[in-house]
This record gives sequence, structure tokens and C-alpha cells, in this order.
Amino acid sequence: MAEKQLLLEVVTPDRLVLSTEADVVVCPGVEGQFGVLPGHIPFLSALDIGEMYYRKGGQVEYLAISGGFAEVTGEKVTIVAESAEKGREIDVDRAKRALERAEKRLATTKTEEIDWSRAEAALRRSLMRMKVAGR
Ligand code: ATP
Repeated sequence: MAEKQLLLEVVTPDRLVLSTEADVVVCPGVEGQFGVLPGHIPFLSALDIGEMYYRKGGQVEYLAISGGFAEVTGEKVTIVAESAEKGREIDVDRAKRALERAEKRLATTKTEEIDWSRAEAALRRSLMRMKVAGR
């Protein structure tokens, strides 16, 4: 008998990023990383900026995720992300430019709290994209 697998779908407002079967899925939850195996109890979690990965057979694939939600049922994981890129889709130079802009803003923005948190989020996205691109 074939082993049970999960159906994993990653979508963003722009596109279907991924639809695949997976043996295990690991996501960047806002309360910490969590893993899902087939048969997991249903739950919903908000996602942080971070890397997610899934294993299918002997292969592990990484994606960069920038917030959103994960819906888990026993047989399916649906990720609705603000943005998501597979490692090979990441433009490292673009991420470096975004990092430089964010660093500049963080170095100069002292009073505007909103700009500060936006710049911090941009910095976290760019660092995370560079990490995933190198996987
Ligand atoms: P930038 O300032 O370079 O646009 P950002 O962090 O503001 O970076 P987002 O708003 O998170 O970008 O994403 C906008 C769109 O661009 C999304 O579709 C995202 O997948 C894509 N994207 C952002 N950065 C990269 C990158 N380095 N490589 C590939 N796609 C990217």
C-alpha cells in the first residue's frame, strides 16, 4: 500500500506558487515553526516572515514566505501567503538591494514608528530570501 501523503498548496494574491504532494510540511508560524504530517488534526495558523519547506520522497524544497495563513487538515496544507517564492525563483541581487534600502531607513528613521516597522519587515524579508536562495 502506498504511504499516505499530504496535498500542499501555496497561493499568493498573484498566483498559485505550488501544488504538490508531500510527506511532511514545515511552516514559519507566528508562534514558532511547526511541522505537519498526514493525519494531523485540523488547525489554522498565522504565518511569520520565514522559510518553509516540504519533503517529498528524498527531496527537500524550500520556499520564502512573507506572512499569511496556513490551513491544515488531515490530508491537506493550504498556505495563503502575502508573498512566496521557491528558492530558485529568488533574485538575490534584488533582495540585496531591498536589504540596503531597509538598512538605510533603519539607520535614519528615528521617530516614525510605522516606517520603522515597515523597514524592519523589509529587512527581515530580504535576509530570509537570501537565506532561502542559498538552500
Ligand atoms: P522589493 O523592494 O524588492 O520589491 P519587497 O520585500 O518589498 O522587495 P514584496 O512586497 O515582499 O517585496 O513582494 C512583491 C512581489 O515581488 C512578490 O510577488 C514577491 O514574490 C516578489 N519578490 C520580492 N522580492 C523578490 C526577490 N528577491 N526575488 C524574487 N521575487 C521577489
